[in-house]
Amino acid sequence: MSALSDEQREVQQWARDFAQREIRPRALLLDKNPESPEREVLLRAAARAGLLGSSLPDFLGGAGHDPVTGALVTEELAAECSGCAVLFGASMLGMLPILLSGNLGAIERFVRPIAQSWDSDHPQLAALAATEPDAGSDFIMGHPQGRLRTRVEKKDGGYRINGRKIFISNGSLASLVTVFASHDPTGPIRESVSCFAVPADTKGFAVGQVFEKMGQRAAPAAELIFDDVWVPEENRLGNEGGGFALNRLIMSVTRTPIAAIALGIARSAYEKALAYAESRKQGGGPIVHHQAMEIMLADMAIRVEAARGLVWSAASSLAAGKPSLKLSSMAKTFASDAAVANALDAIQILGGYGYMQEYGVEKLLRDAKLTQIYEGTNQINRFEIMEAVAAERAS
Ligand SMILES: Cc1cc2nc3c(=O)[nH]c(=O)nc-3n(C[C@H](O)[C@H](O)[C@H](O)COP(=O)(O)OP(=O)(O)OC[C@H]3O[C@@H](n4cnc5c(N)ncnc54)[C@H](O)[C@@H]3O)c2cc1C
Repeated sequence: MSALSDEQREVQQWARDFAQREIRPRALLLDKNPESPEREVLLRAAARAGLLGSSLPDFLGGAGHDPVTGALVTEELAAECSGCAVLFGASMLGMLPILLSGNLGAIERFVRPIAQSWDSDHPQLAALAATEPDAGSDFIMGHPQGRLRTRVEKKDGGYRINGRKIFISNGSLASLVTVFASHDPTGPIRESVSCFAVPADTKGFAVGQVFEKMGQRAAPAAELIFDDVWVPEENRLGNEGGGFALNRLIMSVTRTPIAAIALGIARSAYEKALAYAESRKQGGGPIVHHQAMEIMLADMAIRVEAARGLVWSAASSLAAGKPSLKLSSMAKTFASDAAVANALDAIQILGGYGYMQEYGVEKLLRDAKLTQIYEGTNQINRFEIMEAVAAERAS
């Protein structure tokens, strides 16, 4: 893709300044204590800066960033703390089913008020709830034998929802949840699932367990319980039975920001390792001059540049109005594998210091691991890439 515009560079620098000023001093604190009041302080700062809706159109109260600019911003935030980037970004994920379903009433009733709250002392968040105890990859792939147990039934001019979701990013903080439920829990996922907007103050909705996570700890992952939750018909997002297709479209958009998060981690690991290798003296001089270190650092730099190329390519395709599940999955798998590899190498280059929490590189490894798992595991992403390849060859 072509070079960045002046405006994109300005936004990139602005995001870097924000991340260094607001996230850096809180990253290790929120890793240790995610429930610290500092999380609210950071959320308020991010909300006022427009970072809870970086890619939300400006006429709806968002920053209106194009996908490439959005990826630049996300990389900067994640380079300081990927958990914080998820804390800010999962809200867009939660609103995306509404935006992509084209349900204009739901956009006015749910998205606009959330965006309007970002200037207040109580910024609101959204979350997306698809995963449940017996359906993770099966839902993402629409596996023929997979089943979604969360059930939806028509009731009193609306829908009644019963079931349980797990691992929902920001689920415990969200004022609005978009949830996928099945009209026929014994039927195939591809035809039987719809998506609904559920305000968190709806009777029967509750937050269950908030999970203790290995990494990206600033963003909570929660269990959500739907016990006879009733919503009016206008809260349905998209066609009845169109939930699986809607989720595919969502992933063709959201895997790119996830890739940008992984890129931020990969870059941070590289920069920390390089700076350390330049200053650390062993074996008669700075370790950066030892060939074994040079080779590792070169590989780390290559991974960063290659990941960035894929992220920008997927984002450019999105900007051109062609969301591509294949490209965004390629960006996500490569960048997340690069993040894990770079985090491991950074620890190695820092030696014993790398293993200690205060140097921040062991956190990068814990954070990076998640990028290979959520938004579809990298195995599932690779299947989907090959599915797209097969479809191209057949056409
Ligand atoms: C911290 C965190 C945050 C998350 N946030 C959200 C969220 O906001 N909203 C949401 O809905 N979900 C969320 N998720 C869920 C996430 O998308 C799933 O965890 C992920 O898709 C994997 O599903 P699973 O955990 O059920 O694993 P499984 O599907 O049980 O997979 C287990 C293993 O089997 C492999 N596998 C599965 N099926 C196949 C197959 N057919 N062939 C070969 N290998 C296979 C997988 O690759 C994996 O290695 C989150 C998860 C985590 C950990």
